[in-house]
Amino acid sequence: MQELGILTNAAVLCLGGKIVSVGTSRDALRDSWAKRNKKKIVEIDCAGKVVLPGFVDSHTHPAFIHPRLVDFEKRIEGASYEQIADAGGGIRSSVEAVRNAGTNALASKIHAVLREMAAQGTTTVEAKSGYGLTLDSELKSLKAIRQAARAWPGTVVPTLLGAHVVPNEFKDCSQKYVQIVCNQMIPQAASRKLARFVDVFCDRAAFTAEDTRQIFEAARAHALEVRAHVGQLTETKLETLLPFHPASLDHMDHVSDADVKTLAKLDTVVTLVPGANYFLGLETYPNARRFLEAGVPVALATDYNPGTSPTVSMPMAMSLACTQMKMSPAEAIAAATINGAWALRIARHKGSIEPGKDADLALFDVKDYREISYWFGANHCTATIFNGIIVSSDRTFSEQSS
Ligand SMILES: [Zn+2]
Repeated sequence: MQELGILTNAAVLCLGGKIVSVGTSRDALRDSWAKRNKKKIVEIDCAGKVVLPGFVDSHTHPAFIHPRLVDFEKRIEGASYEQIADAGGGIRSSVEAVRNAGTNALASKIHAVLREMAAQGTTTVEAKSGYGLTLDSELKSLKAIRQAARAWPGTVVPTLLGAHVVPNEFKDCSQKYVQIVCNQMIPQAASRKLARFVDVFCDRAAFTAEDTRQIFEAARAHALEVRAHVGQLTETKLETLLPFHPASLDHMDHVSDADVKTLAKLDTVVTLVPGANYFLGLETYPNARRFLEAGVPVALATDYNPGTSPTVSMPMAMSLACTQMKMSPAEAIAAATINGAWALRIARHKGSIEPGKDADLALFDVKDYREISYWFGANHCTATIFNGIIVSSDRTFSEQSS
């Protein structure tokens, strides 16, 4: 993760949405296809800029309607989780709004966020349901994700997070809710091809390791891959989850040495989401160095959600990773690109600038890649390219591409 393979005075040649060649500008100009088709080529002058693979944001919750401003203000005043819920905030308020929303309204919220993410250099987004918590509203959320994805040039990987929290109506019989996730949500999401992954919030006050095992079992029976939120509040022993080959385990603030050792031998990625720690005002962050030094692949994601991490910015997550988790700027880039792609099991097509991969690129108006994490709170992305299609915040490029 320290070695980014940086090329200077370089060029990337893309054709049909794929990267064809990467090398020096000279090589690109010598390419025989490029020579013959010179007039057809749209050239983007990136002189003095940094070109990266588009960010892969492998953990987001965009299927909601309102920001949670009550939570925000009450938490600043020092209110507890229960007091926030009593004041009309908390996850319950998001659930109510999603249950009452139409698919189109939800899809337009998601689409707006995908565009904001793209403006900061993100070209691939994993998007979870999880604020509906009934069969109908979880399927509605996944349909809204699909609708938004179709209207966006980037790539969206949909995840069913029916097991986000136990909804109020099942408070005293959570096992009944787990059965709904296993026997209704998973089969329907799978048969309608609405989700690629099943996710579970496995933690105190959410779902137990045994609940998670049952849900993973159901996912496997319907050929869906699995991932989980683990160790955000308390440690869960990973032995119950690892036999299901999760693509990623996310948060991981709390994990034992023995489990870190085991993870180093597997291809499960650990996805760290420091935006949540920042926004909750926590003093501690996940221990990235412990994973990195053990040889565990680490990805970074925004965890975009209304309660604990309302940010669309991968550069912000990277900056937090550098300053709060002591990841190097190079490690932060690798974690936000290729390792995010591994965390979604799409690294064959995404996450690096290599011939054969999708032409997903992000252009930054900085001279050195380290500046992307350094100028925190600023956006230096000037253009994003999805499968060879240019979307730009800088007019000159959109004029060139049209
Ligand atoms: Zn999350």
